[in-house]
Amino acid sequence: MSPWTLLVDFDGTISLEDVTDSLLIRFGRPGWDALEADWREGRIGSRECMAGQIALLDCSRSELDEHLASMAIDPAFPAFVAAARDAGMPLKILSDGLDYAIELILARHGLGGLPITANHLVEDGPRRWRLEFPHAKPDCRTASGTCKCAFTQAPIASAGERFVMIGDGASDFCVAGRAQIVFAKKRLLDHCLDTGLPHQPVANFDQALALLPSLLSSLAATHLISQDQGSESHA
Ligand SMILES: [Mg+2]
Ligand SMILES: [Zn+2]
Repeated sequence: MSPWTLLVDFDGTISLEDVTDSLLIRFGRPGWDALEADWREGRIGSRECMAGQIALLDCSRSELDEHLASMAIDPAFPAFVAAARDAGMPLKILSDGLDYAIELILARHGLGGLPITANHLVEDGPRRWRLEFPHAKPDCRTASGTCKCAFTQAPIASAGERFVMIGDGASDFCVAGRAQIVFAKKRLLDHCLDTGLPHQPVANFDQALALLPSLLSSLAATHLISQDQGSESHA
């Protein structure tokens, strides 16, 4: 049985760019940036923000597909997936982005079939799109589209399951506080530093891959857990 489950963000973590942002910049009707500002300043949650933004997308499916075909992923992510599989570590992608985009981008890179939890993109008519939120939770403290924190709790998580969270942004803050260790970059790294969460800074999946052997050794696991308890006692 694996000692660790890997919870991996998509936008800015697996993909080099934020896919939704890149779509809005290219195809957004006026108004999407005002929603973005409302979300950044905490006036609305990401669910409300993204529902409004996706309704402002002006593109056909072929334009969408063509744009998604240009999106790059971290070149070391396929090797990371293979290493996790070899080590028997379950890997789940948890995203507050678009399921259709993630599936298409990963399939293009030979990574179809990974478990993906994300918001559901629906074609709503000619050049019209809508976002549905099958993984939202009414009590989500960040009012996210996909409530990532639910994945570290029953009934989704099993008793004694331990988590490594890998991410880069605000959609990861909530779940990061419930993982035993965070591999963090960008805004998530700042958040871990500010709040004293146990973490390892990583710039990319090359560096995350290099950290997997130490996760697998029980000595390292004990060390990480004692760091976790240490940070709680100082909180
Ligand atoms: Mg992200
Ligand atoms: Zn939540």
